[in-house]
Amino acid sequence: MALIVQKFGGTSVGSVERILNVAQRVHAARRHGDDLVVVVSAMSGETNRLLGLAHEIDPEPAPRELDVILSTGEQVTIGLLSMALNRLGCPARSYTGAQVRILTDSAHNKARILGIDEQRMRDDLNQGRVVVVAGFQGVDEHGNITTLGRGGSDTTAVALAAALKADECQIYTDVDGVYTTDPRVVASARRLERITFEEMLEMASLGSKVLQIRSVEFAGKYNVPLRVLSSFGEGPGTLITYEEDDMEEALISGIAFNRDEAKLTILGVPDRPGVASHILGPIGEANIEVDMIIQNVGADGTTDFTFTVHRNDYTKALRLLEKIAGELGAREVNGDDRIVKISLVGVGMRSHAGIAGTMFKTLADEGINIRMISTSEIKISVVVDEKYLELGVRALHTAFGLDNDNKDSQAG
Ligand code: ADP
Ligand code: ASP
Ligand code: MG
Repeated sequence: MALIVQKFGGTSVGSVERILNVAQRVHAARRHGDDLVVVVSAMSGETNRLLGLAHEIDPEPAPRELDVILSTGEQVTIGLLSMALNRLGCPARSYTGAQVRILTDSAHNKARILGIDEQRMRDDLNQGRVVVVAGFQGVDEHGNITTLGRGGSDTTAVALAAALKADECQIYTDVDGVYTTDPRVVASARRLERITFEEMLEMASLGSKVLQIRSVEFAGKYNVPLRVLSSFGEGPGTLITYEEDDMEEALISGIAFNRDEAKLTILGVPDRPGVASHILGPIGEANIEVDMIIQNVGADGTTDFTFTVHRNDYTKALRLLEKIAGELGAREVNGDDRIVKISLVGVGMRSHAGIAGTMFKTLADEGINIRMISTSEIKISVVVDEKYLELGVRALHTAFGLDNDNKDSQAG
């Protein structure tokens, strides 16, 4: 008998009908003989609705109170799913994060899990019950409710699987696995049988939100077998695994993209030691995360400096940069919040030259201008104008041979 942690995302529990569908699936797995811990998200749209309410009261809501509000979405679905299971004759019990005792740090809205008390879950499992746990939430050492950041139910599921040493953590969602790129943008995207933790981590951090980054980190660190599958159909989904020597490596596993980007440039800064830190210091202190950074080679004693930030931080960063420009005697500040980042990801890249060249040529052939470039061992990212996102991703998908000829296997 296996112990499985199953997680169902927002769309999968988006209506009463869908919750009943999830209950059927869980019941079937239970009858098959598996012990089950089920993690659920809030019904689709609910977390955004709650965020909206909070912002109507206060445009900058206090993080502690926001967590009190946001955590209610998941509390509704655990109750509904447990009721549905019990009605099917499948004994189940619901728990909030605090009740299980998913202990987190106190970083409201982006808390990290520190520990999980598995005793209560074990007791229920031993009594033959399905344990239904609210995703996305925990409690800090002072008893405050915390949440784990958007998409955090994935991380709850993986953390529970790690704590319980589950045989597998199954992430059920509205697509039937991890694809070569977002199947909603490229219709010919192909489902991957397997992807390495390393690649999945890059894909997630470069914008593929099919799994929250932290869930992938966690699964890699604690060796949790992790699988992404559809909650609406059957099929093996995608297994996230360690790299194996005999694994036939595709050159490129996938293409990730991120629409939440903005770039800022400060021109004509005196080219002397300390300038980068003078520019980025205050940005970091304002809690603004900087992604790509480019400093041009200096000419006539001055240089230009460009960096990207999350689009939500754009206005704040621009204001700060204008102030910094004044202090440094820079010539000009400008910015653009209509840019996106497109990235190629693949461990096969390590041993192959020429991938960047093909990427740049493909984009050039489509008349797409590259604004910034950054590379690492297993990825190449470019920043382009937002209007070229779909065109660029599709062209690259074809150029690197990722297209699926058989479109019937699409999820939906
Ligand atoms: P859930 O509510 O179940 O957590 P999410 O919306 O968080 O679901 O994640 C699933 C979505 O991720 C899909 O609907 C798909 O549009 C998107 N996605 C982005 N990149 C990929 C990818 N490479 N493979 C599969 N899905 C992807
Ligand atoms: N409900 C939360 C969100 O929308 C957590 C999750 O779905 O994983 O971000
Ligand atoms: Mg999600």
